[in-house]
Amino acid sequence: MSKHYDLISIGAGSGGLSAAERGAQYGKKCAIIESSKVGGTCVNIGCVPKKVMWNAANLAHGMADARDYGFDVTNNGLNWSKLIEQREGYISGITNWYGNYLSDSNIDYINGKARFVNATTIEVNGELYTADHIVVAPGGYPITPDIPGAELGMTSDGFFALKEQPKHITIVGSGYIAVELAGLMSSLGSQVTLLIRKGHVLGQMDSILTGTLAKVIQDDPNIVLLSTTEVESVEKNEQGQLTLHCTNNQQVNNVDALVWAIGRAPNTADLNLEAAGVEMDSRGYIPSNEYEETNVKGIYSLGDANGKAFLTPVAIAAARRLSDRLFNNMKDRKLDYSLIPTVVFSHPPIATIGLTETEARKSHGDAVKIYSTSFTPMTHAFTEHKAPTAMKLVCIGAQEKIIGCHIIGPGVDEMMQGFAVAIKMGATKADFDNTIAIHPCSAEELVTMR
Ligand SMILES: Cc1cc2nc3c(=O)[nH]c(=O)nc-3n(C[C@H](O)[C@H](O)[C@H](O)COP(=O)(O)OP(=O)(O)OC[C@H]3O[C@@H](n4cnc5c(N)ncnc54)[C@H](O)[C@@H]3O)c2cc1C
Repeated sequence: MSKHYDLISIGAGSGGLSAAERGAQYGKKCAIIESSKVGGTCVNIGCVPKKVMWNAANLAHGMADARDYGFDVTNNGLNWSKLIEQREGYISGITNWYGNYLSDSNIDYINGKARFVNATTIEVNGELYTADHIVVAPGGYPITPDIPGAELGMTSDGFFALKEQPKHITIVGSGYIAVELAGLMSSLGSQVTLLIRKGHVLGQMDSILTGTLAKVIQDDPNIVLLSTTEVESVEKNEQGQLTLHCTNNQQVNNVDALVWAIGRAPNTADLNLEAAGVEMDSRGYIPSNEYEETNVKGIYSLGDANGKAFLTPVAIAAARRLSDRLFNNMKDRKLDYSLIPTVVFSHPPIATIGLTETEARKSHGDAVKIYSTSFTPMTHAFTEHKAPTAMKLVCIGAQEKIIGCHIIGPGVDEMMQGFAVAIKMGATKADFDNTIAIHPCSAEELVTMR
């Protein structure tokens, strides 16, 4: 005998939870299947623990800056265990809350690994469950390289399980996770080696961001950047430290912790999608159309697993819109994937939305007009440690419609959300100019650029 639902979500991460939650709000009978922990990547091993570490790193910078403002402050070091205990306590609070919330919302939570039996039936721990609508939101996992000794390293999952602060940490990768971990560990006092395959970090982003951050990394006394370098093998010595043998006869020695941050892949291999006839692409992602429908009627793919945009708010927004459409008669409701704002929690942070200058010039040629500025923010006018700020607006046409905004510097993480509303509404440079500046702060530069 199988149990029947209106909607089943596979994965209790950002996407799966949100689809079931919204469905239940419309009075539908929903279930969520989760093989690990409620909350998924973001809550347990992604955004949330990362942001706690970033906050701690900011406090370390704040203490150094406080001395230059005249405070008698000495940083006597970080109690790593206490930080991790506080962080994990905070996360447990969120996951416990979810547990109660799901039962209060009349959503069945099924702990186990989901496998398709056919297009309407899923098997978990030997039990069968059927549904009219099945949301596949299994997220992804961090990949490791296929080289001798790769298993001596860890991924971001392992990083969040570290019981002690490594004195020397090597991070391999040039994407946002690599850059974030490098920045926060350097700020917390570890020696960091950042090892990247190409010549620059965050290669897809606008040059004002990558150039400014590259300079910050180069100037950071706690970070050694090894660019155009690849790890070929890893060895462990008797003291438990690692040696990395790299291209061009380079070696990185005395490494206490090695983190592979070289990309992620979708968690789709064990779902037995073939039994349901659901197609995957060559990398295992499950393509979905603008309504998040897969090639099989009644089966949808959401979040990281559909490969569209790897961000929590995107998974949540797409999921809510899907349930609005399925259960609340909102026939055209779907997520507009254009102009998604996002932040990289580097030190200093980066915030970005829309086209880079290069992308804009490729698609709009001479119609592009760029406004940019860079400066030292007032907070750091007389501090020894200085974090730069740089800003760029990418505009097009006679109206100078803003199609890209790229900012780096202290506070930009909180600055972008409001500007993103304006840009999403079609703001022009004149709209920005017509907005009275807030003084004195860094954000005012965005409405006074010439
Ligand atoms: C280190 C790190 C930092 C990040 N920082 C940010 C950030 O600052 N901001 C941001 O927006 N995004 C961030 N992200 C990305 C964000 O976490 C993901 O985009 C988001 O979690 C995707 O949600 P999802 O629902 O698709 O999948 P997930 O949240 O990954 O949830 C999928 C769930 O499905 C479960 N599952 C998988 N297979 C099965 C199965 N067969 N049966 C049952 N359950 C299954 C998994 O256990 C998992 O819990 C970060 C990610 C990482 C790794």
